[in-house]
Amino acid sequence: MHNCKANQSIGCTVTSCEYHCNEADYCSLDKIVVGTHEPNPTQIECTDCTSFKPKSACCNH
Ligand code: SF4
Repeated sequence: MHNCKANQSIGCTVTSCEYHCNEADYCSLDKIVVGTHEPNPTQIECTDCTSFKPKSACCNH
């Protein structure tokens, strides 16, 4: 993402996300929502960033 406004409070390594700052491992959103896809989450893998948006969904790259 060009002119990415890195939110220093939200570190992220998901480079395939539309909101990821490529030059730095930060999210560019002011706020994200973390959720889960499990009925009873017990491990780190059970949590998800529900604000994720695939880069391919946007044509500005
Ligand atoms: S929306 Fe979620 S997955 Fe996407 S860059 Fe921000 S924190 Fe990462």
